[in-house]
Amino acid sequence: MMSLPSAPLALHLDAAALRHNWQWLAEQSGSATCGAAVKADAYGLGAPEVVQHLNDVGCRDYFVATWAEAQSLKPHLGEAQLSVLHGVREEDMATALHLGVKPVLNSAEQIQRWRGAGGGLCDVMIDTGMNRLGLDANAITTDLFEGLEVDVVMSHLACADDPSHSLNMVQRMIFGSLAGVTGARRKSMANSAGILLGSDYAYDLTRPGLSLYGGGQVPAAEGHIRQVVRPHAQILQTRLVRGGESVGYGATYTAPRQHWIGILNVGYADGYLRAFTENGAALDGGAPLPVVGRVSMDLIAVNIEDSPWLSEGDWLEIAYDLPTAAAATGLSQYELLTGLGQRFDRKWV
Ligand SMILES: *Cc1c(COP(=O)(O)O)cnc(C)c1O
Repeated sequence: MMSLPSAPLALHLDAAALRHNWQWLAEQSGSATCGAAVKADAYGLGAPEVVQHLNDVGCRDYFVATWAEAQSLKPHLGEAQLSVLHGVREEDMATALHLGVKPVLNSAEQIQRWRGAGGGLCDVMIDTGMNRLGLDANAITTDLFEGLEVDVVMSHLACADDPSHSLNMVQRMIFGSLAGVTGARRKSMANSAGILLGSDYAYDLTRPGLSLYGGGQVPAAEGHIRQVVRPHAQILQTRLVRGGESVGYGATYTAPRQHWIGILNVGYADGYLRAFTENGAALDGGAPLPVVGRVSMDLIAVNIEDSPWLSEGDWLEIAYDLPTAAAATGLSQYELLTGLGQRFDRKWV
């Protein structure tokens, strides 16, 4: 079979930065063990490779959303444990029972289903105020967990990225008062931002996702979390735009003077959304080359007048520091990562 031709767009994924970020978050977790959220294909980076790199530095607890994710990741786990956050539906039971992966039980129905089928080790989620997944805090009783072998009891913070939000402490108090009832071996509450709320939130196991992959929304992470994902795209063509001419759909950009532009092979179908129109930039060395005109489905144009050496076939990095790109576009750092599409070659460097 012929192999696929190389793509004109690539994500450079920095394994050393990923490992550094996990190790820093593990340090910040204090005496708690540090795990890793690798749902959504490790936020778009590629879950098997991420797990391999994190296994190398000692991560042993992983979290995905669905059983399909669990099944494809299972062969890469080694000794590590995997939890499926979205619980077990009836149609998941066959997979769940043979895979040797823990469901995170979110409701009394799921607890009954798992216990009734003689399922083994499991995790439990308690909803402490987010009103998303998990057992209602008011409905927790000891007998609910009888006969269950619970490894991790967890809850999820709604506002961890805002350290001054009063809901953080409310959720921690509720969790603190209920977690013991489950008879679980380990307690877990903190995502990336939750780790930085302080040791009160770390319990036994932390569950960072975003900050592993270079994101961070709280000042405490600044200067410690390294960028992991660097999109690159190839110049397909350069062209001279004359003063007064427009570029792209809707003719939203008009050249103020004659200048060169480069047409790059990346667009909104790759997750480089139209929010980058007039907002994004490619990088030549460190120098920004601004996006001009609307982002197309598969292409963008950048102003290359200050980089006259660029020509067809050259590669440019796309500016994608997550906090900066989020501030510029109004997209969340999570959206910026998980939207990156399948047309990128993913290259671990
Ligand atoms: C996604 C997720 C995490 C990781 O959150 P980040 O904000 O990316 O660190 C942790 N716990 C649960 C339950 C999640 O769904």
